[in-house]
Parts: sequence; C-alpha cells; structure tokens
Amino acid sequence: MNEPRRIHALEVGPAVLDIMLGDITRLDVHAIVNAANRSLLGGGGVDGAIHRAAGPELLAECRTLGGCATGEAKITAGYRLKARHVIHAVGPIWSGGDRNEDQLLAACYRNAIALAARHGLASLAFPAISTGVYAFPPARAARIATGTVVSEIAARADAPGRIVFCCFSEESARLHSDALIDFGLG
Ligand code: ADP
Repeated sequence: MNEPRRIHALEVGPAVLDIMLGDITRLDVHAIVNAANRSLLGGGGVDGAIHRAAGPELLAECRTLGGCATGEAKITAGYRLKARHVIHAVGPIWSGGDRNEDQLLAACYRNAIALAARHGLASLAFPAISTGVYAFPPARAARIATGTVVSEIAARADAPGRIVFCCFSEESARLHSDALIDFGLG
C-alpha cells in the first residue's frame, strides 16, 4: 500500500488526533502500536507487516519478553522502521461480547498510551486492534478506540501530543471519523 494519507485531523485540548489511511509501517512517528498475539512471536495481518518491515532483530527482541497478556502492552525498538519503537498490544479475540472484550480492547489503548508516556514519546500510531483475524466488530472497536484515546488525552498531561488512528480501509477510516463526530468532536 502507498504512503498513508490523512483523512481527518482534529485538536483535542493540547493534542492532535489524526485519522490516516494506509500502511502503519510507513508512518514517521515515535512509536507504532502492533496488534500482537500473546506469544509476541509474530503472526499475520499488521503484526506480519510490522515484523517484515522492522527486520529479524524485532523478533529476536520479542523472544526475550516472555509474551504478553491480553489487554496489556510491551515496548521494543523499531529497528528498520522509521518509528523508533514498537508497542506490542494484545487485543481480545471477539467471542460474542460477554467475555470482557470491550474492557480488554480499551485496556490496550490505555496501556499503550501509558507506555508511550513513560518513554516520553511525542507521537503514537494505532492500527484498528482486534478488527482483523480477532473479528471484533469494527464499528464497536472504533468507538472504543477513539473514546479511550480521547479520555486518556484528557486524563494525563504526559500523553503523546499526536495520536494517529492508522486505518487500513476507507470503511475503517469512516468508522473512526464517525465515532469522533458522535463524541461531539471532529
Ligand atoms: P487482530 O489479530 O488484532 O485482529 P489483524 O492484524 O488481523 O489483528 O488486524 C487488525 C487491523 O489491522 C485490521 O483492521 C487490518 O485491516 C489492519 N491492518 C492489516 N495490515 C495493516 C497495516 N500494514 N497497516 C495498518 N493496518 C493494518
């Protein structure tokens, strides 16, 4: 896919939120978030794309981390990516909605922002976690993603000043824009 392009940008307090369409591995941000699995040893989808673009050193570092629980996040270097870091967050597998999926998805966004803040990172890009192989309903995921990011920006002064939702389809970008508009933003 080509260079990501900006679909929508808005200011929320001191931060800028961008909705972009394209390949997250091409973004020039301080960290990109990976929709990883609990092994952290690579997979398909965005995880495969990130490992291919970062090179084999990323897998070598991931092997030292001992996996990651669902809803949590761990940070590595970005190796051959433009991004200096990758934050690996493990989204929930959708199984009908009564297994805490909403809370676990929100926790991914919250924990990734907390890690970025702890490392002093000024910009962070998220893919639409769990909406691929993990089959989370995309509109519901977009509402949780945008709602959690907006409330984290409001809650903590050390959050990254630029947060990107890097969507991989026009439909996904529209869902994220609509969710922000529904919150009275955008
Ligand atoms: P999960 O297992 O968490 O569902 P997937 O990688 O299967 O993770 O999908 C998560 C989202 O990432 C999907 O919306 C998918 O379309 C999107 N995606 C896949 N490749 C890329 C990429 N290179 N850049 C950004 N988003 C991507």
